[in-house]
Amino acid sequence: MPEPLSPGELLALDRAHVWHPYGPMPGRTDPLVVQSASGVRLRLAEPVHGRSELIDGMSSWWSAIHGYNHPVLNEAARGQLERMSHVMFGGLTHEPAVRLAARLVEITPEPLEHVFLCDSGSVSVEVAVKMCLQHWRSLRRPAKRRLLTWRGGYHGDTWQPMSVCDPDGGMHGLWSGVLPEQIFADAPPAEYDPGYADALRALIARHAEELAAVIVEPVVQGAGGMRFCSPAYLRVLREACDAHDVLLVFDEIATGFGRTGELFAAEHAGVSPDVLCLGKALTGGYLTMAATLCTPRVAEGISRGEVPVLAHGPTFMGNPLASAVACASIDLLLAQDWRQEVKRIEAALRDELAAARDIPGVRDVRVLGAIGVVQLDHEVDMAAATRAAVGEGVWLRPFRDLVYTMPPYVTGDEDVARIAAGVGAAAAAG
Ligand SMILES: *Cc1c(COP(=O)(O)O)cnc(C)c1O
Repeated sequence: MPEPLSPGELLALDRAHVWHPYGPMPGRTDPLVVQSASGVRLRLAEPVHGRSELIDGMSSWWSAIHGYNHPVLNEAARGQLERMSHVMFGGLTHEPAVRLAARLVEITPEPLEHVFLCDSGSVSVEVAVKMCLQHWRSLRRPAKRRLLTWRGGYHGDTWQPMSVCDPDGGMHGLWSGVLPEQIFADAPPAEYDPGYADALRALIARHAEELAAVIVEPVVQGAGGMRFCSPAYLRVLREACDAHDVLLVFDEIATGFGRTGELFAAEHAGVSPDVLCLGKALTGGYLTMAATLCTPRVAEGISRGEVPVLAHGPTFMGNPLASAVACASIDLLLAQDWRQEVKRIEAALRDELAAARDIPGVRDVRVLGAIGVVQLDHEVDMAAATRAAVGEGVWLRPFRDLVYTMPPYVTGDEDVARIAAGVGAAAAAG
């Protein structure tokens, strides 16, 4: 083992060489150095604002639903490591990937039946878009190549996903002339609005000839603004897509695996998409992996084409280690009363965040499933908000005008209360 780096050395190297998400180079603010993590706690390499341990209010961006260092997931990883951590997926197959695919088909809405396992959420959206475009090309309707979405969304950072992110938050101005130009409806209102539903229908009808697919995050828009909207819009989209020969893609990379109170957010509306993207919590936050599922109709369309194959195949496709942990994470989730745990956290966040409404500068407080959001009437001061949360012993990562939490489902009541106190402190300071 090499000599461990001191926190000072580590930060100096980090600043000089390492990009962080949405960060400048060299870095301008010091990240916190995490030494280990267990349960819902992150242990820091040295105390910060008097805290050497932080309660994690972020589940590492929606992913660590069972908390860190979980014995069952550790065992799954260790067991698989002893057999093989990776083999190529071209011409070879293995039990972890096959089991995972079958399991995903079993737990997701019918008629999703075919599974493409890939590296990350953004890639799963690329694959979803490729599936839809190739489907229409195969059916000799190449004009159907654009996407429609509503504003306020987030679908990832590679090119096709970026093109359907919110045009303002997604910095489309920076990329004009480079990004494919997609069709945008207004952001969906929180409550069902028949006028908005009509506008959605009309937009889909008007562009039907050039539309390959509609892509949305069902019920919760995550990194595009942490907005919730009526599940009834999903039925409107399903009907309009069916009426006009347009495919429907649900991006459940953030909402999947119970976060909104249903196993998949589409279930709030009883609606099934033609293509479904999963990621984030898929491996319980252990390893990078995502999945794109589609229906037999989509697959058949592709197979009837001049090029009758789905032309995509990442090097680490179906990675056995990630697949084995994903299977263990899904089993662990379904073996417990996860619905009750999410409800418990939802009720606690509703109670504990209610007081945040009275903080000056707070515009809105909203809770759905294990997601709590405090929206400010101004851009959050990241440094001040982070410092305030850390002072309460809580890890949060606010953005834009939002201070929010989506804790691991294993977070106990006292820790949820502390997270809520952290959110309040961050909102007051930021
Ligand atoms: C995070 C996210 C993505 C992108 O996933 P990555 O693994 O970060 O590439 C796509 N869509 C949604 C809804 C997400 O929340």
